[in-house]
Amino acid sequence: MSEPIGFIGLGNMGFPMMERLLTAGFPVVAFDMRDDVLAKATTLGASRAGSVRDVADRTETILASLPTPQVSESVVADVAAGYRVRRFVDLSTVGGGAAQRNQAVLAAQGVAALDSPVSGGMHGAQAGTLALMVSGPRAEFDALKPIFDVLGRAIFVSEQPGAAQTMKLINNLMAATTLAATAEVMVMGVKAGLDADVMIDVLNAGSGGTHASRDKFPRAVLPRTFDYGFATGLMAKDVRLYLDEATSLGLPVEMAQTVQRIWEQTLRTEGAESDFTSVIKPMEQAAGVIVEGGNR
Ligand code: NAD
Repeated sequence: MSEPIGFIGLGNMGFPMMERLLTAGFPVVAFDMRDDVLAKATTLGASRAGSVRDVADRTETILASLPTPQVSESVVADVAAGYRVRRFVDLSTVGGGAAQRNQAVLAAQGVAALDSPVSGGMHGAQAGTLALMVSGPRAEFDALKPIFDVLGRAIFVSEQPGAAQTMKLINNLMAATTLAATAEVMVMGVKAGLDADVMIDVLNAGSGGTHASRDKFPRAVLPRTFDYGFATGLMAKDVRLYLDEATSLGLPVEMAQTVQRIWEQTLRTEGAESDFTSVIKPMEQAAGVIVEGGNR
């Protein structure tokens, strides 16, 4: 039996990633603040930890999938105090600043830090098809390859702490933009009398197709399920983090600011826990139409 892996944060993304590791034969020591998901993990074969510190006392390699930079930094403070931990892999989206602060806290205790934010959503986490962008010590990346391979395709970005987080924010600004833009044009087309299914077919066959039209709309908007598995609050967080980093570089951010206004509006009207595909709802309401389909 191989060395156990610690896993902290068993949410929409963390739980399926942890489950894949168990299925691949890695023993897992798991922790989450929510008792229900922890109990479910235990029934699948994970060993239950009593706290973050308990995970760090029992495992050398810890993976974490946490909601915000603030939570990630508080978890890292506890991880760094653990006596067994040697490396910490943050799968969360926290931005470059938090990643650099985490790296410093961990380095002070001789713990290696790897940023490994992921892209591909809950479905990618379940299927093991995530894109993992990784920054940190190259030798640690190479040693962790068997773990990354269970989760998806890992791309080494740089040894510079936080670099993969910056890359992830760039990816997510694109995802936030294309989802919002696709929502806006779909509402326009339906208002003008076009059929939503036909529109998606044409976009996907033409040059206007994006991940939003290929995957998010058919899965969660056209069937009106709004259950893609990423919260509006988290998308709004990522757009804010992008803007923080871009403005701190002194760059113009006109497009990102427009995208941000759309997500902050969705946050206000649909709530932080709503699925991010709900971004279309305020637009539908303003237009007096529903973008429905998915029947073929
Ligand atoms: P989530 O809210 O579903 O899961 C977060 C989990 O962390 C929850 O189970 C929560 O109970 C747990 N948690 C919170 N504070 C904790 C603490 N102090 N100690 C232990 N556990 C704690 O979020 P998610 O959708 O799984 O996203 C996780 C991260 O991955 C976020 O940073 C998000 O931006 C990023 N991400 C999400 C997606 C997606 O499609 N959902 C895709 C790519 C990246």
